Amino acid sequence: MFLTKLKEILKDEPTYRYKQVNAFIFKNFITDWEEASSLPFSLREKLQISCPLDISSDIHWSSDRDSAKALIKLEDNNVIESVLIRNRDKRITICVSAQAGCPLGCSFCATGKMGFKRNLDFEEIVIQVLLWEREIRNSGERVDNIVFMGQGEPLLNYDNVIKAVKVFNDPERFNIGARKISLSTSGIIEGIERLSKEKLQFNLALSLHAPNDDLRSNLMPINEKYGLKKIFRALDNYIERNGRKVMLEYIMINKVNDSPELARELADLLKGRRLYMVNLIKYNDAGLNNFTTSTPDRIKKFKEILINSRIEVVERHSAGSDLWAACGQLANRNNLNK
Ligand code: SAH
Ligand code: SF4
Repeated sequence: MFLTKLKEILKDEPTYRYKQVNAFIFKNFITDWEEASSLPFSLREKLQISCPLDISSDIHWSSDRDSAKALIKLEDNNVIESVLIRNRDKRITICVSAQAGCPLGCSFCATGKMGFKRNLDFEEIVIQVLLWEREIRNSGERVDNIVFMGQGEPLLNYDNVIKAVKVFNDPERFNIGARKISLSTSGIIEGIERLSKEKLQFNLALSLHAPNDDLRSNLMPINEKYGLKKIFRALDNYIERNGRKVMLEYIMINKVNDSPELARELADLLKGRRLYMVNLIKYNDAGLNNFTTSTPDRIKKFKEILINSRIEVVERHSAGSDLWAACGQLANRNNLNK
């Protein structure tokens, strides 16, 4: 992998070289060292051999070109996915994977179904954004936001995720502010506790999906290990230390977790708690358990109950479902026609 090798290769070069090389990779987004014409020829040759820039990928754009999915082949032939979403305001969000597959097996999630392959190295997370910067560089666009909502559980690959976030933040590299980076977790308490102590101001989201342990453990087996009480204790503490909002993601699965009673239970759970925001998400058909997305009236009713309890709530319209690219559908499907 090239990033760690760079310093080694440049150790006998004048110090400004490192900055210059970083600019070629992370500002000009070159794909071949030949493009780095201001570098001495001998150095370019060395970089070409020891630090190749190619990323093996297969990119599929949606017909309206507002979303795209990349299948990226890693050195050991594992394949991961990364998604580009162009929001309504034309901002570009990249959804990155933190692991190849996922060990947690949530019942609604296609990634969970495929099982766990391995943790990604930080560079394998970084290249998922680098690839898209290259892809859009000619249109004058830049990546605005990054969300760790692709394959895998980011807090089970903590060190690599934090290392990647630092590369995203670095003014000499991507220069993407921490506030533009969001991390979604199924609720790994040790990870939330470590995050509370980090000085990075990024956004944290919890995949909640149910307001009580019985239903949540049914949908997300990892809940048996931690449970909502402990998770909320860790989140309350995170909020207290950072003063930052936490987003609660709630997939609306028809007649599974979307009843008015459950909305009231959720309202009770959040009573007296500050800085939580509920994000209602359409269930994307992942072909699992005959789940379907909630009907518009059930979503409306659920939302009303929360609003009446003065809970901040938004609906997320996830893009990319025509590409099997939306959240929870990242299972390396090559056949885009389903
Ligand atoms: N493992 C982490 C992050 C990756 S999943 C987590 O679970 O939070 C990213 C988001 O996609 C999570 O909120 C997850 O619950 C959601 N998701 C999974 N399957 C989905 C589906 N079929 N439809 C909609 N969202 C889904
Ligand atoms: Fe893993 Fe998140 Fe999917 Fe659950 S929802 S299986 S934690 S990727």
